[in-house]
Amino acid sequence: MPPLFSNKVVAVTGAGSGIGRAISLGLVREGATVHLADRDAEGLAETADLIRSEEGRAFTIQLDVSSELQIEDWIEQIGSMSGRLDAAFNNAGITGPAKRIEDYPLEDFQRVIAVNLQSVFLGMKYQIPLIKRSGGGSIVNTASVAALTGPGGMSAYAASKHGVQGLTRVVAMENAAHRIRVNAIAPGWTETPMVVANSEQNPGFAALVQTAIPAKRGGKPEEIAAAAIWLASDAASYVTGHMLTVDGGMTIGGFEL
Ligand code: NAD
Repeated sequence: MPPLFSNKVVAVTGAGSGIGRAISLGLVREGATVHLADRDAEGLAETADLIRSEEGRAFTIQLDVSSELQIEDWIEQIGSMSGRLDAAFNNAGITGPAKRIEDYPLEDFQRVIAVNLQSVFLGMKYQIPLIKRSGGGSIVNTASVAALTGPGGMSAYAASKHGVQGLTRVVAMENAAHRIRVNAIAPGWTETPMVVANSEQNPGFAALVQTAIPAKRGGKPEEIAAAAIWLASDAASYVTGHMLTVDGGMTIGGFEL
């Protein structure tokens, strides 16, 4: 099979770690030139080194995805450096503290919404015109199984990810006739620094994984990336407005007799 992204230009946020790094590497292996953004300069440099060691092409920028000015400048830079944008992955995110709503500080709520939801709004706001000028393409936003469920203690996170699903549907509707597909992925528990840190703080986590995930294991970042890359590629040319769960069965919601 020919590579899915040869001669294509793709933007990825949160590319300095975890799922974003795996998406970036996977895209380069499919022939893409990637523009990578993250607030963590060190993580970004590591991702770029991994890509260059495979002779891939990567440009990096340190930015905060919740800043309109920074996102606007980045997308403009992609336009002037690469002349086009074929796909974008709005993936950066944070979990925020685990607290019941009565103890949840407003500033933490606002920060999680800004990083996880406002960022997806801003990303698409500036990506869509450039993708349109490039003749069409696709966007994949990273939601979560928390877009479908109500994980106690995670009010800001769940609200932000439900919002990502809503935004994905709206922008898919607005752009379906412009040859731009917009979808989301909803990873379950995936072994990245984000959840590994949480599970180290909470020793009950390993047992929870065994009871909550039918597959009895966490996902690998590469397993999430493979689904996201497929969704963004022409192999999914008639899929839009969809949120694809990649969760080892976590949201099946049934039970085994
Ligand atoms: P991660 O912590 O390994 O990576 C997230 C990356 O986003 C980091 O490199 C971080 O520096 C970057 N980032 C955070 N805030 C940023 C900001 N304001 N500006 C720019 N970059 C910023 O986590 P991950 O697990 O790879 O998470 C990636 C996405 O997947 C997130 O949206 C997360 O909510 C989602 N997700 C993860 C899991 C999981 O179990 N790991 C499950 C469901 C959804």
